Amino acid sequence: MTWETVIGLETHVELATRTKIFCSCTTEFGGAPNTHCCPVCTGMPGTLPVLNKKVLEFAVKAGVALNGEITRHCKFDRKNYFYPDLPKAYQISQLYLPIVRNGRVPIRTESGIEKVIRIHELHMEEDAGKLVHDPWLDQTRCDYNRCGVPLIEIVTEPDFCSAEEVIAYLEKLKSTLQYLGVSDCKMQEGSLRCDVNLSVRPAGSTELGTRTEMKNLSSFKAIARAIAYESKRQIELIEEGKRVIQETRRWDENKDATFAMRSKENAQDYRYFPEPDIPPLEIDQEYLDSIRRQQPEMAEDKMTRYQRDYGLPVYDIQMLTGQKALADFFERCVSLGADPKQTANWIMGQVLGQLSAKTLEAKDMKLTPPTLVKLILMVKEGRLNRNTAVKVFEAVFDEDGDVEEYVKTHSLEQVNDPGALAAAVEKVFAANPQSIADFRAGKEKALGFLVGQVMREMKGKADPQAVNQSVRENLKK
Ligand SMILES: [Zn+2]
Repeated sequence: MTWETVIGLETHVELATRTKIFCSCTTEFGGAPNTHCCPVCTGMPGTLPVLNKKVLEFAVKAGVALNGEITRHCKFDRKNYFYPDLPKAYQISQLYLPIVRNGRVPIRTESGIEKVIRIHELHMEEDAGKLVHDPWLDQTRCDYNRCGVPLIEIVTEPDFCSAEEVIAYLEKLKSTLQYLGVSDCKMQEGSLRCDVNLSVRPAGSTELGTRTEMKNLSSFKAIARAIAYESKRQIELIEEGKRVIQETRRWDENKDATFAMRSKENAQDYRYFPEPDIPPLEIDQEYLDSIRRQQPEMAEDKMTRYQRDYGLPVYDIQMLTGQKALADFFERCVSLGADPKQTANWIMGQVLGQLSAKTLEAKDMKLTPPTLVKLILMVKEGRLNRNTAVKVFEAVFDEDGDVEEYVKTHSLEQVNDPGALAAAVEKVFAANPQSIADFRAGKEKALGFLVGQVMREMKGKADPQAVNQSVRENLKK
């Protein structure tokens, strides 16, 4: 029998507000344990939460960008449960009237599948603290710094049937939220994490099978592998005549497998009730209109504009607009006078190469547009050849070093001296009569060797085109 996998996603995104959702503590990542908290976010008796306006603004912005309906009369609810990292023993969340419903996210996978993922809802809530397990001391400690960091949870319908689709959606979501500036979406710091709901059913069936939920996956790699593992596990169970149990499972990165954590709880287990400490929100048309007016240019709009204004190939445009920081970098270079196609080539080749080698994100790199533009212009003016420029680029990348100074101290400037070139060619020709004979006997390869030798003689500082031309001319003599 052939099986199909059905996946729904719940994505938690930490919002990039300066302060927490219900108090004025900082949301900054890290910090010594329990230094970013106060009586409100640790739920001390007698304290009252006050909603951070920015959280609402960011949630509405995200909702508009995901083509959702904004709930004009919206409320918070209390979700009761005890966990050591949640000192209040309840989480303020939204169940009955989430801020956004019925969104739509068009995606395109790497192999070209296009579909629309339906968003069931997007709601606001507070994050819990963190438990730090210390296996050496055999202790678990509570760090409440993350308590009250604002989150939006985005819940899709079960519209995915492969890891590839899930990843295309997450890439799209990440890019959208970064363009909006509502989250940095740093998966390694837990700013974006996913719960994957997965079930299998016979291909063509319209009924859903029993699903399991895998919690807190925080890298694309873990998500893809967890999906592959869990589909296979469920199919094998069913084929052996056993049943899939509805439960929450934990993905163990090291063992490459999922393990049962607890049987799946239902909403009623949490005894949700309307949060009595926060009044309902009434969102008026004027507020919504002002948010819509402030929406920035998103990736799709940029793609159209790049094609129209710069005539760049589609591939280049996709690469450049994939990350907002990269698109901003590109635009700034062009505004400083660099040729768009040259800039795109440098970004796709050298910049992305360095970022990937150093596992950095574009928004965290120190290299600035003026530095890259300087290099591009030096190549254009014939002061550096392309190969040397790449070496200079690699040298200045980490600290955004001074290009002029580096070129000067390492005397890398291109030598445009016809006399020196002629002398180098003469020397190389005198030393390599065999190569000259080979070339004249029809061995094209000998040309490359001679050009290389002259370039070496010039210490790599000659203009490659001039060297090539000079060697060819001398071979004709
Ligand atoms: Zn606080």
